[in-house]
Formats: sequence, structure tokens, C-alpha cells
Amino acid sequence: PQLQEHKCNVPSPACQAPSAFPAELRPPKFCQEQAGTTQRQDANGYAERDSSRDICAFCHKAVGPREPTVEAMRKQYHADCFTCRTCHRLLAGQRYYQKDGRPTCDACYQATLEKCAKCQGLITERIIRALGKSYHPGCFSCAACGRAIGAESFAVDERDEVYCVADFYRKYAAVCSACEHPIIPHKDKDTYKIECLGRSFHESCYRCESCGTALSPEPTENGCYPLGDHLLCKSCHVHRRNESSC
Ligand SMILES: [Zn+2]
Ligand SMILES: [Zn+2]
Ligand SMILES: [Zn+2]
Ligand SMILES: [Zn+2]
Ligand SMILES: [Zn+2]
Ligand SMILES: [Zn+2]
Repeated sequence: PQLQEHKCNVPSPACQAPSAFPAELRPPKFCQEQAGTTQRQDANGYAERDSSRDICAFCHKAVGPREPTVEAMRKQYHADCFTCRTCHRLLAGQRYYQKDGRPTCDACYQATLEKCAKCQGLITERIIRALGKSYHPGCFSCAACGRAIGAESFAVDERDEVYCVADFYRKYAAVCSACEHPIIPHKDKDTYKIECLGRSFHESCYRCESCGTALSPEPTENGCYPLGDHLLCKSCHVHRRNESSC
């Protein structure tokens, strides 16, 4: 088989979803309101926060001391103001998610999740985007060895199967007709496949069959002068032809 043109891509792992925080509904605070005092002190003499001054992070109005409040995302809300920004369901006491800093209910959040192209499951945490699709990190794996590709390079065959680079070459690389090992290009070395007489060779295996001299892939004096199905250098070619013509 021929080594296919393959796309080597590095998938982009991205963190899709924030974690869920419980929205804590706090009972209204009943304070003794004292006329003329804006600050009170606790038993240890520390200034206590004046709850009547608290501002709802959603409507920006004061949260009265007798109103139920929700403390979430490090802010304070009226219980009625802390709602799913998509369906407006009250979230006090509910499990919720932060989606771009906006509180979102469980159902609305699940609806925004992407599906894994391999197992069809929802992707809740890390997501691998590759080949225009989304995958769980564990689902974007080599079709041969099953290893997760992670941030490594990978190759895709003509049936859109994903392989780690080593398995791709193991499966698709041409086999050298001299040493019978696959011809695998190396990143740093300028290794390439030489084709002659319909067969493939490693550069280092491309030699005269008679004297072992390395042959040049270029059509020069040092190139291959095949005779029948034999690879020969120029002088061995001339020599053999003279022998056979005697
Ligand atoms: Zn409010
Ligand atoms: Zn919702
Ligand atoms: Zn999956
Ligand atoms: Zn593999
Ligand atoms: Zn070889
Ligand atoms: Zn020779």
C-alpha cells in the first residue's frame, strides 16, 4: 500500500465547563434595627457588616435585612433575582452552573453541552476538538492501539480513522523491497522513499545489487542502471551486459 497524504494535526484540548457550585439560600436575617446606628459591633468588638447596605448583584437594589438572599458566585442576590439567565427558573437551593459568568440551571446547562463524536455522550469537562468534531479526551484515541492521542500528532486514513503516528506508518508505510522494513519518515532526518522498478527502497538500501555501491536517486552517472529487474550501478550494468552478450 502507498503512504497516503495524511493530515498531522495537534488537537486542541480546551476546558469547556466550569464546575457546579451549590447556591446557598440563606434565611432572612432579622437584625435589631437601631435608629441612628449604621454599624454594630459583635461580642469581640469587630465591626459587623451592615446587612441593610448589601446590594443585589443582579438588580443592583438594596437587599433588605428581612429579605431572603442567596449568596453565590461570591456575590449577594435577592432570592428572586438569582435565576437561570436562560429559562428564568429560580435557582435558590438548586444546583447551578456558571456559564460565562451567568448562572444557569442544570437543564439549560446540559442543553449547551457538546456531544462526543465517538460515544455520543455529553462532554462535561475537558474537550478535544479535532477534525471539526468534539471528543472526550479518552474517546479521541488511536484505532489500532487504543491509546488516547492527547496533544500528540495523529494521522487520519482515507476512512477517517484516527491513528497515532507510529501505528499509522506501521499500517500504511511502504515496505522496503531490500530490507523488508517499513519506510517511516523521521521529522529531523530527511528520509524519503525511493521508487525504482515499481519497488520502494530506503535511501540507505538503494544500492547496486552486485557491488553494493550506494546509488543516487538522481538520474546521473551515480544513479541506477537497471538490468531486467536488477538494480545495478553503471559499471556493473555495463559489465553484466557485456558478460551476457558474449
Ligand atoms: Zn435583586
Ligand atoms: Zn434554565
Ligand atoms: Zn466520548
Ligand atoms: Zn496507536
Ligand atoms: Zn531498507
Ligand atoms: Zn555495482
